[in-house]
Amino acid sequence: MKNKITIAIDGFSSTGKSTIAKLLAKKYNYIYVDTGAMYRAVSLYAKNKNIINNISLNTNKLIASLNDISLKFVYNKNLGYAEIFLNGDNVESEIRSLEVSQIVSKVAAVSEVRKKLVIAQQKMGKEGGIVMDGRDIGTVVFPNAELKLFMTASADKRAERRYRELIEKGDKVSYEDVLLNVKERDRIDSTRKDSPLIKADDAIEIDNSVMGIQEQFNEICKLVDQKLL
Ligand code: C5P
Repeated sequence: MKNKITIAIDGFSSTGKSTIAKLLAKKYNYIYVDTGAMYRAVSLYAKNKNIINNISLNTNKLIASLNDISLKFVYNKNLGYAEIFLNGDNVESEIRSLEVSQIVSKVAAVSEVRKKLVIAQQKMGKEGGIVMDGRDIGTVVFPNAELKLFMTASADKRAERRYRELIEKGDKVSYEDVLLNVKERDRIDSTRKDSPLIKADDAIEIDNSVMGIQEQFNEICKLVDQKLL
């Protein structure tokens, strides 16, 4: 029996990757890394420093600032997962705003940003026993991951889920804006030059448009258990 494997979960925005990843990490006692949080934290930094706004991104300034950005995950035992800290501040909640969602794909398309974050991700996962979710985990970060999942769902379904999350948090957003953002991020993420969002050849596709969390989780656990044999 294998000890600990690497589980790579990629897919479109708001497909429930992180929900499944957290459940898997808990069940198998693995480390969970939300790589989207890392791109979001860099975007929040860029927003706060006026390096990016809704209209333009100062790519040179962003690249020059990368050494000033320190990211850390700190495990919160009450929540059961790690929260992200940007230069010492817990930004876990702030990075989930629609405002950050509206700039993150532009920041994530910058190769220098990706290089920095991918190195950090590979370091975190070098011992295995990790569940990592993102857009390029099975293709770039861990191309040799033992299990690769690729999650999809209809854009309407995904926007509905994200809209509900934001409203529950008290954010004042419209469903139309959330839907627009989900579609726009998919477009930028899938068409960027560096590490576009694509399904790895050996990834298993899971369309969860009409599948509940428990059903997906049961199916995925079967896949993990097969890999652990
Ligand atoms: O996963 P989440 O929706 O929080 O990711 C936010 C954004 O970060 C994505 O839309 C994408 O632009 C970027 N991202 C990425 N590569 C990853 C994870 C996230 O480009 N591995």
